[in-house]
Amino acid sequence: MAKFTDTIKGFINKHFTGEVTCAHCGKKGKVMFFSTMSDDNRLCSSCKNSIPAEFHFNPKESTLEEFKNLDSFMQYTKNQLEPVFEPDREFSYGDFKVDPVNCLCKVNNSFVFEISNILAYDFSFRAEEFKDGIFSSKVKGDVYLNTLILREPGAVFGETAIKYSAKGKAEKKMFSSTVTYQNPADLDEFLMKFDALWSRFENERQQQEFDDLVEQKAKELLAQRERATLNA
Ligand SMILES: [Zn+2]
Repeated sequence: MAKFTDTIKGFINKHFTGEVTCAHCGKKGKVMFFSTMSDDNRLCSSCKNSIPAEFHFNPKESTLEEFKNLDSFMQYTKNQLEPVFEPDREFSYGDFKVDPVNCLCKVNNSFVFEISNILAYDFSFRAEEFKDGIFSSKVKGDVYLNTLILREPGAVFGETAIKYSAKGKAEKKMFSSTVTYQNPADLDEFLMKFDALWSRFENERQQQEFDDLVEQKAKELLAQRERATLNA
């Protein structure tokens, strides 16, 4: 009879030190450094880490095909968009860089993406709380990119401060203590310019959404027919 410790050693060898191959790049290594995907393919940590957090990529819940889709987008942005990306200071706001000529943008040090690929976005200015209850008409705070959603491949940029110490204006009503903060003028200016660029693709976006819907409906119909044929 095998001793208990031998059984443990066997388990450790099999589950932590056995050698596997990355289904994407072919790298071989210890199983403990690899993720098992939902289709049982193995993915090495460097392939996994090549996908930015905005995609919320989780190998355990994804297939190799889904990974390859994200990977080819990353290759596309690196090889096609990054080399032509020329941010214009007039159109940018802090770490949100915009290239109005090529209609591209980049948040912090993430990847470059097309403005036409943005499904929705939202920025806001948040003033610091007043200290000691003293009212001042001049306020400072941070500008946040609250959300930005990319359509294809789906990505969500969450709460990101894009500029610190922005200055805004506060107003107080005579009979109420409600204070309304106003955006710093340069944020409003930035949003106006950015919206003009984004709006250019409105028709294209709606058309694409429409095409996607038609494709989805067609697939559903085909699946329905297939089931009907099988049951007949
Ligand atoms: Zn790999």
